Amino acid sequence: MYATEIAERVRRGELDPLDAARAALARVERFDADVRAFLRLNPNLEEEAEGVRRALREGAELPLAGVPVAVKDNLNTRGLATTCASRVLENYLPPYDATAVARLRAAGALVLGKTNLDEFAMGSSTEHSAFGPTRNPWDLERAPGGSSGGSAAAVAAGMVPVALGSDTGGSVRQPAAFTGTLGFKPTYGRISRYGLVAFASSLDQVGTFARSVDDLARVSAVLMGPDPRDATTVPAPAPALESDAARARGLTVGLVRETLEEGNTPGVAAAVEHFRQVLEAEGVRFVEVSLPSLRYALATYYLVATAEASSNLARYDGVHYGVRASAADVVELMKETRERGFGPEVKRRILMGTFALSSGYYDAYYGRALKVRRRIANEFARAFGEADVLLTPTTPTPAFPLGSRLDDPLAMYLSDVDTVAVNLAGLPALSLPAGFEDGLPVAVQLIAPALEEARLFDLARLFEQATEAAYFQLAPLE
Ligand code: GLN
Repeated sequence: MYATEIAERVRRGELDPLDAARAALARVERFDADVRAFLRLNPNLEEEAEGVRRALREGAELPLAGVPVAVKDNLNTRGLATTCASRVLENYLPPYDATAVARLRAAGALVLGKTNLDEFAMGSSTEHSAFGPTRNPWDLERAPGGSSGGSAAAVAAGMVPVALGSDTGGSVRQPAAFTGTLGFKPTYGRISRYGLVAFASSLDQVGTFARSVDDLARVSAVLMGPDPRDATTVPAPAPALESDAARARGLTVGLVRETLEEGNTPGVAAAVEHFRQVLEAEGVRFVEVSLPSLRYALATYYLVATAEASSNLARYDGVHYGVRASAADVVELMKETRERGFGPEVKRRILMGTFALSSGYYDAYYGRALKVRRRIANEFARAFGEADVLLTPTTPTPAFPLGSRLDDPLAMYLSDVDTVAVNLAGLPALSLPAGFEDGLPVAVQLIAPALEEARLFDLARLFEQATEAAYFQLAPLE
């Protein structure tokens, strides 16, 4: 069942707030031994459902009444362990809810459980989890993408209708593409980062997964809007995301030449072309735009993201948080804690980031990356003078086999080539399935100017309606 349907039925009293969560748990029971989307389930569902019943009796609105939601394990959940899939936080019990989680709960949702990710959200396959990989429900030998692979797989497998992820360089959109789900990353500052464990603070955003545009809009609307606990939130009310087909037909979409020239598999190229034809038939206008500096986006991202990560992860020192190694003195204690607590990819990021920030190299690497970041943002701004929304593939290929990119970090990083620029520029973007290649889903990405999220939902809805949601399918698990 879709989230929208669950909430409406619970509000009308046709369903008990616990019913959908029970059905969700039955699917987890049936499929998650294979998929491994969840790291842990919420043991307090009964009690939380009682809270929803009470709120409904008191007349609360509750747009997500009784909707089971999966939450990425780098968002703090009060009393429910939050590990970031890292040994260093293995036993961390947050004393508070992230704002995104608190807003879900206030809207009547039930947090079904916490989902797997690449350690500290660093990766593109969910294989860098200290607790083992998640598998792609479309093909259990393939990666679900990452780093929010657990949330994406839980939605693709029909365990939950909607889920939360985080997106620093593509970690919602890329796994959405790999699992045939819809994935949304809002404008930087639209959703509070309070309680989202920091990876790269100038890029991190909470994002959402769903299997229909209405569901994606409903859960996203609950999360967006300013939060006094996060000074980087935009002081503007959440946008209305209701359907408006007429408004969608009046938009001009810019095909981003640099992302379509080479490097895409035939199925990905065909999906972009198909998307264009479907919307053109609906009256949407298409033009071609060029962003020459996009070719530097990946290098820029991996300098900025690692630099910020090296600073953010300094707090895991064995003193403040989480796991502590025993040692003779405090320096040894910190060394041992970090040596044992972090996995290889996290260590690689800390080393690269520390190098990029070190004296003598700062200007050449980090300083230059900031200049290119500005240039990329300027090119986006120019492109939005010619088009209302931009269109690219979400990823150059469908889901890759587990293990195939683990020994080659550059190949792994390349799966983010079409998503990272959006984070560097702080823009909103939405990935939606638009075709299949060898039985695997492939997706396109829509990008809007800052705060213009509604345009993304308008176009996605037009495509959903015109194709009768032919590409928004559950993974064929049996
Ligand atoms: N895959 C990218 C990385 O490894 C993006 C991760 C993310 O968005 N959290 O940094």
